[in-house]
Parts: sequence; C-alpha cells; structure tokens
Amino acid sequence: MSLGRHITIERSLSHVQHFCRVAVTGELLPVSIQPEYRDPYASGERDPTWCPFLRRADADSFICTIYQTRPRICREFRCRTMLIYDQNGNEAGYVKGRRTLVSDDPCLADAWREIPGDADDATLKELLKKHGYRAEPLE
Ligand code: SF4
Repeated sequence: MSLGRHITIERSLSHVQHFCRVAVTGELLPVSIQPEYRDPYASGERDPTWCPFLRRADADSFICTIYQTRPRICREFRCRTMLIYDQNGNEAGYVKGRRTLVSDDPCLADAWREIPGDADDATLKELLKKHGYRAEPLE
C-alpha cells in the first residue's frame, strides 16, 4: 500500500516550504523539507507515481523528506487501510487491518454488520454506498 497518490504539492513558497494537499481528507497543510533531506529532495531519485516528498535513501529503503511535518494520515497510516465518509463528506470511520471498523457512528456500525466478512473492496464500497457512505481504500 502507498499513500503517494493521495499527496500533492498545492503551492510552493520556496524550495523547502510547501503547502501539501491530502486528497482523501481534503487537508491542506504547510510542510518543510528537513535540512538533512534537502539534497536528496532536490536531486535524489524520484518517480512521478510516488508521493512528491518521497526519495530513495539506498537500494532498499526510502525517506520521507518532510517526516517531522508529514500529514496526520501518514502518521496513522500503518493501521489504516480504508477511510469512510458520510454524506456530508465528513470522516465517519476507518478500517484497520483487513476488516476492522473503527467508528463512533452507530449507523455505519449497523451497515458494517451487514457486510460479509469475505467481501472484496468493490463489494464493500457498493454496500456502504447504499447506506450513504463513501469508502476510499488506501492502496
Ligand atoms: S509519509 Fe511522507 S513520503 Fe510517505 S506519503 Fe506521507 S508525506 Fe509522502
């Protein structure tokens, strides 16, 4: 899974100061390229399909060049596999791991109980849509 396709640079104030947009949450936040990562950010290997702040550290590893100021979704990413929004576009919950719902919304919890445990992402999205929710897998 990767968050790269959800992260874009909306505006750059300088080579190190940027405003970053997180597509799935709509969040817009100021971020800074960390001093120790300015060289790899400026001239390191990158790929247009990656997050614009991701750079290769070596053959086997990568660095987040804005690690200290990275978006909230990136900080929590390891436990989230899907975000779920209500009809107003507010986050109603998220899925942890394969199929564990985390939500305070009782209607979403009811809808979730109707979803077969072996439902694939497409089926899950369709079933939630019938209840007025939008699911965004993080992949
Ligand atoms: S952790 Fe850093 S490199 Fe990874 S998606 Fe988030 S901002 Fe981009």
